[in-house]
Amino acid sequence: MAGKCSPLGEEIVSRIHQLAAISETPNNLTRIFLTPELRAAADLILTWMREAGMSAHLDAIGNVCGRYEGDRAGLPCLMLGSHYDTVRDAGKWDGPLGVITAISCVADLNKRGKRLPFAIEVTAFADEEGVRFASTLLGSRAVAGTFNEGVLATKDAAGIPMREAMVQFGLDPDHIGAAARVRGELLAYIELHIEQGPVLEAKNLPVGVVSAIAGATRLAAKLTGMAGHAGTVPMALRRDALAGAAECIAAIERLCLEDDGGLVGTVGYIHASPGATNVIPGQAHFTIDMRAPTDLRRNRSVAEMVRRIEAIAKTRNLALQLDVTHENRTVPCVPWLKEQVAAAVAAEGYPVFELASGAGHDGMAMVDIADVAMIFVRCRGGISHHPDEHVEPDDADAGARVLLRVIENFRPNS
Ligand SMILES: [Zn+2]
Repeated sequence: MAGKCSPLGEEIVSRIHQLAAISETPNNLTRIFLTPELRAAADLILTWMREAGMSAHLDAIGNVCGRYEGDRAGLPCLMLGSHYDTVRDAGKWDGPLGVITAISCVADLNKRGKRLPFAIEVTAFADEEGVRFASTLLGSRAVAGTFNEGVLATKDAAGIPMREAMVQFGLDPDHIGAAARVRGELLAYIELHIEQGPVLEAKNLPVGVVSAIAGATRLAAKLTGMAGHAGTVPMALRRDALAGAAECIAAIERLCLEDDGGLVGTVGYIHASPGATNVIPGQAHFTIDMRAPTDLRRNRSVAEMVRRIEAIAKTRNLALQLDVTHENRTVPCVPWLKEQVAAAVAAEGYPVFELASGAGHDGMAMVDIADVAMIFVRCRGGISHHPDEHVEPDDADAGARVLLRVIENFRPNS
């Protein structure tokens, strides 16, 4: 599918760069919830939505909401969306690709004067990454009506409470409820997003059909042994917490490698104390992140993982403390909607390939008010949350053509 890309792909790429120019820092991309940069980005998105024939406004949490009426006013909508906030030192495509592609699809319909038997809404969520207030999916939770008002009191790194940041942004923290939508207003929620992993590239495919957004369990582990002199304590008499942690990490990796159903496990943080060259580590803290495409598999795997590291701790005479720090359920993409995405992929001439999303997405919140499907677009090297994040223009175009086809052939669940 190489060659010159269509105007849809060209427009998308050009807008990706325009949006990426709105950043807190000049040399890299950082656009955080409730900042002046987010507001400037919202204004640009509002302009694009209106040019595409949509009515558009900022909702009570700062999401940018556009609506393209169906063949008569007031019909329930097919909602498309993604987020327009970023991590720090971000890539240009994570989030904005889904927003910009959806707007380009609507613009294309509008140009042809085409109305459908349902409305189309595009939502650019104001906070998905959760960088500022350490709580993710704030934008989509507000839309799904599951926003936790307790978050309003949390402060950012500069000590500014979210409530105050909302007022500065021009929003009323006492009216977040106004952003909430109800199930009957939405026929489905479909999100196009970069894969953020290397699977599509390895398969040589520009697009993929997401099977589920993998649930995750995060745990904090603490192993306690006995600190001692690195020269005087014989090996057989040691209770080395760090060596125990190393064995646990290898066991977690082995458990995931043995699995053939998409289980992944990561130890991304470790700390040993006292932490000196000549002292046997008396204590080790580490984190565990485990994800799988089904909750059953994840729960079973976490249980097995706990059994294995308990056995390691016992053998080494180490005290083990394990705490679950975070857990979210798997969001399956429903068959009726997934089939429509697959049909569009096939109609565009690509093999239909299903993959699970290991990363979290706004669909995790939207599932509370709508059935969810996702389209993944290949990104170079699987790199994401990094300035090197890149999507080929032809792939952006392929994603847009698939999404446009999904929209035009969309049939609500009967
Ligand atoms: Zn994202």
